[in-house]
Amino acid sequence: MTFWSPHSHKVFISRLQAVVAAMALQLLLAPLGHAEEIRFSYLETGASSGAQEAMVVASGSWFTRRKLSHGAVLIHHPDGDLLYDTGLGRQVDVQFEVNPWWARSLFAYEKGVPVADQLAANGYDAKSLKAIVLSHLHWDHASGVVDFPGVPIWVQQKEYGAALQGEPPAFLHSQLEEASIQWRFLTLEDAEFKGFERSLDVYGDGSVVLVEIPGHTRGQLGLYLTLNPQTRYFFIGDATWTLKGVQDDSPRPGFVRWMANLNDDDDLTERMVTQLHNLQQQEPDLTIVPAHDELIAASLPHYPVFSSQ
Ligand SMILES: [Zn+2]
Repeated sequence: MTFWSPHSHKVFISRLQAVVAAMALQLLLAPLGHAEEIRFSYLETGASSGAQEAMVVASGSWFTRRKLSHGAVLIHHPDGDLLYDTGLGRQVDVQFEVNPWWARSLFAYEKGVPVADQLAANGYDAKSLKAIVLSHLHWDHASGVVDFPGVPIWVQQKEYGAALQGEPPAFLHSQLEEASIQWRFLTLEDAEFKGFERSLDVYGDGSVVLVEIPGHTRGQLGLYLTLNPQTRYFFIGDATWTLKGVQDDSPRPGFVRWMANLNDDDDLTERMVTQLHNLQQQEPDLTIVPAHDELIAASLPHYPVFSSQ
């Protein structure tokens, strides 16, 4: 029996060429490093008690009822998972109690299952989280932070500083001052991304890019997720409460802003809404996800189901 012949050598070489060609083709088809392994899931943690649409977006109808959702997004990545926002956490009732009656009425909510409990029920180890990225530090996004001791919490320092100066109902100090919280201050780069001035490519592969969308709060962060060139999501925090705001280039209603002193900077908030509106025109297949739009939330895969490629 021979193990080598000129013929088998040629076969080996041509097979090697085929393997190299296949690998090159794979690289061409997968511009994102681990694209096939990146996926996300939406975690619903509660809903608002309901309001007329005209109370949540200026172009909204007085005859349409909306029931905004409170949720979070889990992004699975081979280099460590991210949780974007925390929704309503285990201690939300106690946290919320400090509010005056009018704020408890305006921001009344119905509790769902907190993120930490949903993850635990499915055997998810919180150590899989590289970090929790908060869109901003308002109460309905930061409520669950205290449920994740030891997990790094990423915010911009200016957002944290403004929150500590802030007051209820927007900012609740019980959510921010717990000693077990591992705050990590994030520095965005002066790298323009999709028209936004500052950004950070979290994994260095373009799959998750954080961008600053200021105005609603001092240093709000949006998260642009690219699963593949055709499938992209832009989680925009509270730049607007509903997709209708983006579609109609319409801000929150003036009287609600006046009642609750909602935005850090109203003019900047409106400019950001216009920018998002323009981006949606340029990228009609981009799914823009305002944190509270219950209609968009319903279209997303809900935990423990993840997006498929
Ligand atoms: Zn919110």
